[in-house]
Order: sequence, then structure tokens, then C-alpha cells
Amino acid sequence: MDPASHPAQEPASEAPASEAPDLTRRSGKTKRAPVIMDALHEAYEGGRVELDWETPFQLLVATILSAQSTDKKVNQITPTLFARYPDPAAIAAADEAELEALLRPTGFYRQKTKAVQGVAAALLEDHGGEVPETMAELVALPGVARKTANVVQSAAFPEAHARDPEAGIAVDTHVLRLSRRLGFTTHTDPTKIERDLMRLWPRARWASGSLVLILHGRRVCDAQRPRCADCLVEHLCPSSQLAGCRDKAGQARALG
Ligand code: SF4
Repeated sequence: MDPASHPAQEPASEAPASEAPDLTRRSGKTKRAPVIMDALHEAYEGGRVELDWETPFQLLVATILSAQSTDKKVNQITPTLFARYPDPAAIAAADEAELEALLRPTGFYRQKTKAVQGVAAALLEDHGGEVPETMAELVALPGVARKTANVVQSAAFPEAHARDPEAGIAVDTHVLRLSRRLGFTTHTDPTKIERDLMRLWPRARWASGSLVLILHGRRVCDAQRPRCADCLVEHLCPSSQLAGCRDKAGQARALG
């Protein structure tokens, strides 16, 4: 179901019958969060990574390439990229100019060429050419921060993600913006936002919670023009433009 197809809602703070009758956009985040996340999970069927990938290495590379780009653009180039350079050894040994030409459509292609060759070399050097499963090992790879590590671990190694004490929640620009708009955090620093979300969501929701916020951000809660009239959690959102609220994304929108 595409939430964008929801009929416009009135700006009233009335909750659906299945919710606590006194739950409004002014309720505390610990009361609103489970209801909001349940609604988004149902609407987006638990979320999904929109990057195309078949192996953990492909997901790692695609996630690195998605920085400052779109999943659609990355998906357009990765079939050719992985057909030509299928594994870390091939990417590490690739001609730099050829790789740059392939990565060019994703933007920042010189930095991204260095990043994927650097990570491929580190995988060969330290992990026998395999992507490691733990957060500690993932974030130790060159150019891999917690967002990328969380995306890779939660999608490619869900069992490791479920038991790893270092595991967390992938906070990209959409998660950052929606977490602020929905009043789940007041921070703008992704690490602090991740910590707030980890306290607010049950661990079983860490992986899918990030994915459904990303989908809602892409389809409904746009950075510049949130479509609050089409938003299924509008009645619980303290930033609803429809209800005349202040946009709590604030600085996050400027960052996005
Ligand atoms: S700002 Fe608007 S679109 Fe975004 S979550 Fe709130 S009500 Fe929904």
C-alpha cells in the first residue's frame, strides 16, 4: 500500500478508534512512537532496502555509492559495475580512471572511487576478501561510518545485527529529518539521534524502523514540501504543516 494514496486527513488531533482516545500530537514521544511505528510498518510492510544487491560486498559498495546520490542512480550503474568488478580483488585492482568513469553518474565519483578501492583493499588485507559481520569490524573499515555499517549489518547479517552489542539504527538524512519532525529527538547529530531512537524503539524494530522512516521520507515527508495532508500519522505529528505546527526538522532540513 502506498501511503501517498491516503485521502487527505483533517488537521484534528483525533486518533483512530484502535488507538488510545487521548493520544494526540502533543502526547509524549514514548506513547506516540509505538503507534506511529506500527502504522508505518504496516503501510510499508516492514520496509526494504531499495538498493539492488546480491552479496554483502555489493551492498557495502552500493551503500557507499548512495551517499549524496539516490538509490535509483546507484541501481542504474551497479549491474555494469558488478559484472565488470564482481569482488573486492577486482575492484582493488581496477584501473582508477575506468572505475571513476563508471561511478561518475552517482556524483563525487573521485572520492567514491577511492572509497570503494580502499574498502576493497582492507577487506582483502584483513578479512580474506569477505565483509565482516560485526559492527566493530565494519566501522573499522576505511570510510565506513555507523550509518553504512548498520545498513550492511542489518540487511546482510540480520542474525549478527540482532545479537551484536554494538549494533544500532541506520540514521541517514531521511531518518534524521523524520525523527526530528515526529518529535523522537531534538538532536541534529546522527550519533545522538541513533541513541535516542535506540532508547525509544524495541530492538526488534531497529532495522525495519530505519527502513520505514526512509520510505516515508521519500514518498510523503519530503524535506522541502512534506505532504502532511497525505500522511497517515499526521494526527500524531508535532510538525504537521496541515495543523499549522512549526517544522521541527529545523536545521535537519538544511542539512538534508
Ligand atoms: S511533517 Fe507532515 S508528512 Fe512529515 S510526518 Fe509530520 S505530518 Fe507526516
